[in-house]
Amino acid sequence: MITSTEIKQLASGLGADLCGITSVNSFNDSPKGFHPTDVYKNTKSIISIACRIPEGSFFADTQIPYTAVEDLALARVSQIALSIALHIEKQGSKAVLIPSEPYDYWDAENKVGKGILSLKHVGYKAGLGYIGRNSLLCNETYGNLIKLGCVITDAVLVPDNIVAGDMCPDSCNLCVLSCPVGAIDNFKVSQKKCRENSEIINKRGAEIYTCNICRKVCPNRNGIK
Ligand code: SF4
Ligand code: SF4
Repeated sequence: MITSTEIKQLASGLGADLCGITSVNSFNDSPKGFHPTDVYKNTKSIISIACRIPEGSFFADTQIPYTAVEDLALARVSQIALSIALHIEKQGSKAVLIPSEPYDYWDAENKVGKGILSLKHVGYKAGLGYIGRNSLLCNETYGNLIKLGCVITDAVLVPDNIVAGDMCPDSCNLCVLSCPVGAIDNFKVSQKKCRENSEIINKRGAEIYTCNICRKVCPNRNGIK
């Protein structure tokens, strides 16, 4: 029977910077249709992994490097999740990889998309960090410079503890004040406002991420101070 320790050692060996585990019981507050058992009915445990991203692209004079870093990190963490899923199945359990994209839910009018599971909330429940006012998962060591992946499984694994509370300094409101379109309010981001400012299709037909200000200005960007 596979263990939490084995999965964490495997994740680390594959290049993941973070790996945490939570139980299906921690999802009682999930909205209907977005519970792990809505994806795979025998889910017992949910594994969250994360890979660090370099911050240099925040300081480039073009958003092309940031776009590439985001896409490459997503591919990297997804490959690690795939390897973990294969390993779990070799040990006799079932494993379902949960991507951040593609997803089905799309409210076109409000430009709201939802992954089949929220990887941010999975990461929070698995103890990877807290969710800041900018709505990003923020890890104690790596701050918000992380990209998330996820595997759900019918294996029963020892869960990690949630990071209690939020660790935004009381006096900090930088992300809220810095968002050029006022998309951030009360730990939530208006996807419509954000998408209209932060995603474009360039003349070449490529999707480019044109804003990362709320991530960049955060004093916890590189880890909790
Ligand atoms: S990415 Fe830009 S537009 Fe979107 S919430 Fe952050 S600062 Fe606002
Ligand atoms: S910028 Fe300040 S308020 Fe916003 S997430 Fe970071 S620490 Fe929290």
